[in-house]
Amino acid sequence: MATSIAAAQALTSEGWRKDIVVEIDDDGRISNITNNHDTPTTKVGILLPALSNVHSHSFQRAMAGLAEKRDPTAHDDFWSWRKVMYRFLDILSPDDIEAIAAQVQMEMLEAGFASQAEFHYLHHAPGGQLYDQLEETSLRHFAAAQTTGIGYTHLPVLYMQGGLDGRRLEGGQLRFGCDIEQFEHLFTNIKSQMVNHYADYTLGIAPHSLRAVSADCLNAAIALSPDTPIHIHAAEQIGEIEEVQNALGARPIRWILDNMPVDKRWCLIHATHMDNGEIDDLAKSGAVAGLCPITEANLGDGIFNAPRYMHGGGAFGIGADSNVRIALSEELRMLEVSQRLSERQRVVLSDETTPSNGRFLYERAASGGAQAVGRNSGRIEIGALADLVALDETHPSIASLTGDTVLDTWIFACGGELVSDVWSAGRHTVKGGIHMNRDKIASQFLQTIKKLRLAL
Ligand SMILES: [Zn+2]
Repeated sequence: MATSIAAAQALTSEGWRKDIVVEIDDDGRISNITNNHDTPTTKVGILLPALSNVHSHSFQRAMAGLAEKRDPTAHDDFWSWRKVMYRFLDILSPDDIEAIAAQVQMEMLEAGFASQAEFHYLHHAPGGQLYDQLEETSLRHFAAAQTTGIGYTHLPVLYMQGGLDGRRLEGGQLRFGCDIEQFEHLFTNIKSQMVNHYADYTLGIAPHSLRAVSADCLNAAIALSPDTPIHIHAAEQIGEIEEVQNALGARPIRWILDNMPVDKRWCLIHATHMDNGEIDDLAKSGAVAGLCPITEANLGDGIFNAPRYMHGGGAFGIGADSNVRIALSEELRMLEVSQRLSERQRVVLSDETTPSNGRFLYERAASGGAQAVGRNSGRIEIGALADLVALDETHPSIASLTGDTVLDTWIFACGGELVSDVWSAGRHTVKGGIHMNRDKIASQFLQTIKKLRLAL
């Protein structure tokens, strides 16, 4: 349904504009930007292009807060967190997966994201048994997206082995596993169902990592998706850098850059550990670095070398990954403040062209995120998808502020409480800060999470 939004201030592709009306057509695209206030459907304060959330494993939302105790038997790092995650894998049903995904998408929308990419590897039943419909759990994510109205990019994951020595999957990992023939079957089945969903939904592909997919099968997998996003976990943990170096003779991002057709369709998730040559070449490749600052901090991964990468022109997007905390402004804040702590300096990432750190981070994350999830969005411009977020200009934190200072204040001093409205491809999903289906989604999630906590 065609609609229009009147905004007191809006960040368009031409910069900040005051008192404009953004018109949206039946396909969810911005059809006009005018000063004609005759029939605006909705009036808002500050209108921004909304970000895409480029990386999520929705089911991990259910374990937020449950892996924060010191493990007396082990050095407490990523691998002990993974043990808790595998306990969940023994019990999650398709109904649970759908309820959690809907909650995650709703929280993302209320935080100000308009779209989401799900890096989906939980394909099978506990023990690795196939569901009657191979794509059962993928369909549950699409069902959640229909409920929430979020702009959705599905990334089915190819996960074949437990490590580069080809060891077999075991325990919780059995739910992830596909050989390449089974994966092609899965991908084809999902693709045939895309006609049943909103037209802005996208199907891409995600070879899990160099650890979990052999080089031959990596090529076979990306051949399935010649025009759509390709995401891969790249260089999150020192342990995996060493494993890849020993097995393939190069660090993972170097190997990917030298052996894969890396271009604008690629998103390298957790490009945390790179040497200077890798940073410079990834920045020039056109690919997006998928950064997940809150999760990477929570897991103690390390600090992404953002100054060198961004000043080299590198594109990035933001992902909530483990969903331990879903908070758009906090993700961008963490990205910057981790650099400040490391460099012992303020305002590290913005540049001379865009001195405002809030605006620099926001606009870069908007364009890189849209590219990574395969959406024509991330900017307020005629022809782009109407992925939009509005902030409440009457909120005391930003009242009377204008332009870039609004973004600096949101990113460095506030959270989701400023978000008043969100549109995903023109679908008005959040009004007055509340998702349109909040009661139903939240009560379903509450029932699910109580049941899971009793079963752990
Ligand atoms: Zn991940």
